[in-house]
Amino acid sequence: MPRQTLLPFAVPEIGEDELREIEKVILSGWITTGPKTREFEAEFARSLGVQCAVAVNSCTAAMHLALEAAGVKAGDFVITTPYTFAATAEVIRYFDAYPIFVDVDPSYLNIDICALESAIEQLVTGRGLPESVVFDARTVRSRLKAVIPVHIAGNPCDLDAVAGIAEKHGLALIEDAAHAYPGTYKGRSIGSPINLSKGWASCFSFYATKTITTGEGGMVVTDDAEWADRMRMMSLHGISKDAWKRYSADGAWYYEVIAPGFKYNMTDIAAAMGLAQLRRAEQMKQRRIEIARQYNDALRNHIAFQIPSVPPEAEPAWHLYMLRLHLDELSIGRDEFVQELKKRNIGVSVHFIPLHLHPYYRELYGYRPEDFPVASREFLREISLPIYSRMTEQDVQDVIAAVLDTAHRHARRKLYAAAGN
Ligand SMILES: *Cc1c(COP(=O)(O)O)cnc(C)c1O
Repeated sequence: MPRQTLLPFAVPEIGEDELREIEKVILSGWITTGPKTREFEAEFARSLGVQCAVAVNSCTAAMHLALEAAGVKAGDFVITTPYTFAATAEVIRYFDAYPIFVDVDPSYLNIDICALESAIEQLVTGRGLPESVVFDARTVRSRLKAVIPVHIAGNPCDLDAVAGIAEKHGLALIEDAAHAYPGTYKGRSIGSPINLSKGWASCFSFYATKTITTGEGGMVVTDDAEWADRMRMMSLHGISKDAWKRYSADGAWYYEVIAPGFKYNMTDIAAAMGLAQLRRAEQMKQRRIEIARQYNDALRNHIAFQIPSVPPEAEPAWHLYMLRLHLDELSIGRDEFVQELKKRNIGVSVHFIPLHLHPYYRELYGYRPEDFPVASREFLREISLPIYSRMTEQDVQDVIAAVLDTAHRHARRKLYAAAGN
C-alpha cells in the first residue's frame, strides 16, 4: 500500500537533551560566543584527535577562514571539483581567486586523482585554464595555492593521494568535510591531522540537514596553532585578543583591529545544541549505516540501479544515499523518476547540479557540460534517497517499495518488469 503522508527528505534528530542544553544557556544570560562554544570546540576536537577547533556559523565560513589562513589572495588558483555544493567554490571567489575544477571519479564521485595530477601538470605548463583566463606557466605555478577535496555523501576521498599531491606541489589542503562527520578513512577520523608544509584544515557543517546540526553552524579544525589563531581572530572582525590581554590591567574594553575580519562566530545557543548532537553522533551514524545496508540489499541486484560504492578502508558517515539510475533500463529519465517518488509520498533530492553548469561559472569561464564529463553525466542519473536516524522501519520499507515500484512500472524491458513483480 502506498504511503499516505509525505516522508520528508531530511529531518534532524533533536530531543530533550538539546532542549535542556539550550535552556541552560538561555537562562544563564550568556547566549553568544562564550563558554559553551569553547566546550563544543574542545569536545569536537577531542572526538577527532586534533589540536585546534574553531566553531563558526557555517561550513562556508569555515572554508573561507581556512583559505584565508592558507594565504589565498586575489588572482590565485584553488583546485576543487565541480560535483559539489555552491559553497565549495564560492569561498574561492570571495578572494577573487580562480577555482580550477577537476572532474570526479565515476565510482565515488570524489576528486579524480589521475585528473588532479594531470590538471596540475597542465597548469604548471601554462595549459588547461579556461580560455578567459590567460596566464603564463610561471605565474600559475606561483599562484597555485590550495586544493579543496570534497568527501561527497560522507564518502572519504583518497586523502593519502590528495595529500601526497598537495605536498609535491606546495599546496595547502582544505577538506570540505561538510558531509563527513563522523566518518573514517584508513581507520582514522575524517578531520584527524594531516601534516603538510603548506598547511591543512578540515571544515564541517552543522546545517539543518547534515549529520549533526546546530541549525546553522560549522567547525574548522587544524593542528597548526597559528592557523587556528588567525582563523579565530578573522572569525570575529579581525580583532586581536592578545592586544586586550596586554592592556587587561586597565580593563577588558581595549582591543585592536589587526585585519578586516568577518562576523562568523558561533553562538553559545548553537554550541549547546552541538554538544548534545555530538553525544548522539555515533548512534545516529549506526542507524544511517543500517538504512544504507537495507537500501543496498533491496536495490543491489536490480538492473536499473547502481548502489553507492564505498571506497576501500573507509567507513562513510552516510550523510547521503546517492543512488544512480541506469537510464537505458528505464523508459523515464531521472527527473520523472523523482516525480514518481514524490507521487508516492517519498521526499527525495538530487546532489549536485555540477558547478560548471550554473550560469555564474558558465558565464565566468565559458564552461560547457563536456568540460567535466563525469560530473555532467552522473548528475543526470543521480537520486538521493532519504537517510536519517529518525526514519522508522516502515519509512525505510516505504522508500524501497516506492523505488522498486517506479522502476518496475517504467522498465524498458517488459520481460524484466514482469519478473520483478
Ligand atoms: C552543506 C554544504 C556546505 C556548506 O555548509 P554550510 O554549513 O551550509 O555553510 C559545503 N559543502 C558541501 C559539500 C555541503 O553539502
